[in-house]
Parts: sequence; structure tokens; C-alpha cells
Amino acid sequence: ALLEAIPDMSVDVNKSALVIGGGVAGMTAALSLADQGFPATIVEKADTLGGAARDVARTWNGQDVHNFLSELVDKVKNHPDVEVLLNTEVISASGFVGNFETEVSTNGDTRTIAHGATILATGGQAADTEEYLYGSNDRVTRWHDLENNPDRLKDADSVVFIQCVGSRDDHRPYCSRICCTASVSQAIAIKDEHPDTDVYVLYRDIRTYGEREMLYKTAREKGVIFILYSLESKPEITEAKDGLEVSVFDPILQRKLLIKADLVNLATAIVPADNSELASLYKLPMNAENFFMEAHAKLRPVEFASDGIFMCGLAHYPKSIDESIAQAMAAASRAATVLAKPTIQISPLVSQIDTEKCIGCGLCREVCPCGAL
Ligand code: SF4
Repeated sequence: ALLEAIPDMSVDVNKSALVIGGGVAGMTAALSLADQGFPATIVEKADTLGGAARDVARTWNGQDVHNFLSELVDKVKNHPDVEVLLNTEVISASGFVGNFETEVSTNGDTRTIAHGATILATGGQAADTEEYLYGSNDRVTRWHDLENNPDRLKDADSVVFIQCVGSRDDHRPYCSRICCTASVSQAIAIKDEHPDTDVYVLYRDIRTYGEREMLYKTAREKGVIFILYSLESKPEITEAKDGLEVSVFDPILQRKLLIKADLVNLATAIVPADNSELASLYKLPMNAENFFMEAHAKLRPVEFASDGIFMCGLAHYPKSIDESIAQAMAAASRAATVLAKPTIQISPLVSQIDTEKCIGCGLCREVCPCGAL
């Protein structure tokens, strides 16, 4: 009966955002916030904007990615409320929702950025592999190598795509989601340009989901041959005198097939950028595969459990460019709900030092996950 209510504490909100990562997701989120009147700073560790999308020529429904990307970069660079810091890395972070302070280093010069919301869009890339002669035979390529080097296809009589390279196995149990669509799209493009080229797709499951399923139908109609393989019986590649030979067990024919291939393209796994440093600076959770984890898959799909920090793009899970854009807009919307407030209520519960008991070891300061001390 004698307890008194602790009055709420409120602090002013810094109305700017920090976006870490200058790929399509990061740029889209920054532009969306800037268009709503909230200044955004993009921190990109590479020396150019664009991220993983720079390697993609077309989306699954035929849109030109290079054009889109150059327009997006122009908009970002010319927007008065977007600042871009290239060759820049985050070196320390502190604060809380509405009032973060992040120290960044650009080629050794450090500065502190005050911001009210943080969006992580650190991206990802296609993994390397040592399987299927990749790295030792230049007829074996990865991902969009063929799409970006159409000359390589000119004299090819036979092209083989191998799916799920490094995905959906014991090491990386997840599906990389976009590689089936990418390979099937490239297979169709090859058939359109060179109808006489034999195109084979060796797959474990075809996951051309949603409207992308039409691509699979089109590929079948154009004569692309799909052959199922299992994890226990993977295809094997050997070097031959004038190309490569791919052997694979066909479960329908119940016999091993030998395919002569001029080019083999591997759909290697999509992996996130190294997020461990940022995860520890901002105290953010990652899953077993080092993708950032949202607070709740259905209820808070672009937010971290820590207030004021959001995520989008490949840093969260493998996704196509259109999905990255949608998620970036969602992250920007959620960040705007923080930045739009003049003040924010914060918990009045703070730790106090009992000087009778404290020996001044400082250990509490080291271990407090919230940086409260
Ligand atoms: Fe395998 Fe297709 Fe999933 Fe990529 S999208 S991991 S190729 S099933």
C-alpha cells in the first residue's frame, strides 16, 4: 500500500535512420524513409552501391536489373535526405530506440552518427563450392555467370544446370529459394537464343513457387530436360577431351545417364554476409546459418526483439529482388512508426549501484546485454 508508481520517462526521438548495407534492400529502405521526410544514412562497406543485385541481369519476369539498379543508385545519390558512406564499417554501437549512437570508420576516419532507428540490410551472396570441378575447370560456372557472359553460350551444344549445390544438405539444411527460378529462367533464355542447344536441369525438387511455376511449364514446353537426383546419388562430373561428362542416375529410366556437356552451371547456396560482428554490437540474434532472426515470423516479421532495429533483404533469408524490395518497404514503414513520434516512452526501471555491496569489479558492465550500465 505504501509503494508509489514510478513516473514514465520520455525522451526526444532523433528523427533520422541508419541503414547498414547499400544493396537494393538498403537503398530502397533509405529512399522510402527519406521520401517520408526522415533523413537516412547508408553505411556500405564496399566501394560501390548495389550489393548482390549487381550480378543479376534480369528478374524472373524479365525486368532489366542493371537499368533498375542504376536508376535506384542515381535516386539515392541525388536525394537531399540520403547520405551514402562507402568503404565504411560500423565499429561500435550504443543507445536505445529513438536515440542510437553508432561509430563508423571510413578508410580509418571515424565519426559518430546519432539516429533514432536502425535498419540492417547487410545482404548475402552465392556461396563458393569445391564440388563438381568448380574452380579447377572453367567450363563449370556459378549462378548468373552464363547470363552475364552470353558469348560463352554461342558455341555450346549442351548445357547442364545442377541445383541445390551446397543447399539442403547436412551443412546447410535450408532451401536457397531463388536458385530454381534463376536456373529455369536461364534455361529458357538459352532455348530462346539457341533452340538447338540441349539444356538439362539436374534437380532434387523444383521450387519455382507461385507465379514462377509458369516458368517451369514454359521450360518443359521448350524442351528443357529435367532429371531428378537424390542427395545419396549426386551427379558426377569428369573432364573429357572436348568438354565435360556428367553422369547421373535417372530414377524414371532406372539407369545411369551420361551427358556430354560444354558448360555446367551450379546453383550454389545463398549465404548471408558475415553478420557476427554487427550481431554482437547491436546484441541481435542470428540463426544457425548466420541469417538474422526476426522477433516473430508472423507478428513482427521485419523487427528484432530490441526496439528500433529492423531488417530486410538477404541478411534475413534468401529472397528475390521483388521480395527484398517489399521487405525493405516494410522495414522502412516500421522504422517510420518510431521516427514519426516526437518523444518516446522508455522504461523507468534502471539499475542502481548498492555501494555497500559493490566491490567495483565492473563485471556487470561487461555482461549486461542492454548496456544499461
Ligand atoms: Fe535447391 Fe531449388 Fe531450393 Fe535452390 S531453390 S536450394 S535449387 S530446391
